[in-house]
Amino acid sequence: MNILKKDKQVINGNEVSLELKPGMNILQVNKELAQKNLELFQKHNVKAIDIMGSIGAGKTSLIEQLVQKLKQKYRIAVFKGDLTTTIDADRIGKYGVQVVTINTGRECHLEAHVVSKAVEKIDVKTIDLLIIENVGNLICPAEFPLGTNKRVVVISVTEGPYMILKHPFTFMTADVMVINKRDLAQTMKIDIKQLENQAKEVKPTVKVAVTNALTGEGVEELINALEL
Ligand code: MG
Repeated sequence: MNILKKDKQVINGNEVSLELKPGMNILQVNKELAQKNLELFQKHNVKAIDIMGSIGAGKTSLIEQLVQKLKQKYRIAVFKGDLTTTIDADRIGKYGVQVVTINTGRECHLEAHVVSKAVEKIDVKTIDLLIIENVGNLICPAEFPLGTNKRVVVISVTEGPYMILKHPFTFMTADVMVINKRDLAQTMKIDIKQLENQAKEVKPTVKVAVTNALTGEGVEELINALEL
């Protein structure tokens, strides 16, 4: 495990930065670069998924489950966004899929330009599925699409009953919502049905999967929701 002590954004050890000229709007620039990423993924028939959620919600555990269940069917690469460490990248790397570590320093979300640089670290022609774990945060990623086909937001029942209502903007951008740690719902006095209803209120078309990422329970539901 490596711990980076830099403010810079670093991909597999190499610094990257986006130069903004005066008058350029970061959100607009991000949107345009996201579109380019999407076009590149479509050109090479790559399904790309952006996984968002707080630290500890279970994003990495779910990716471990997805990789194990899907690696026979798809050639997979994982981009692992993290402020400073390679802890998650090391966890996923052991399943024999390509992993690119993106350390964002102080940035609380991934951006499309960083993803486009990370794509240069893999041979996009040799993959079918790209899973991107965003930085653990439920607020910042909302306004920064990465050019993926689908966005997933993961919450866990240990985060309490108001995660969706308190972070509506992230949930509005999600195609699929995962409610993780279902085995702890009773202990935490969380009504999973209520969370599902709240999600549908914020985003009527959202698909919901209820999982236990440690045992793999509900992961098939997630795979179906992602149409994989
Ligand atoms: Mg993680």
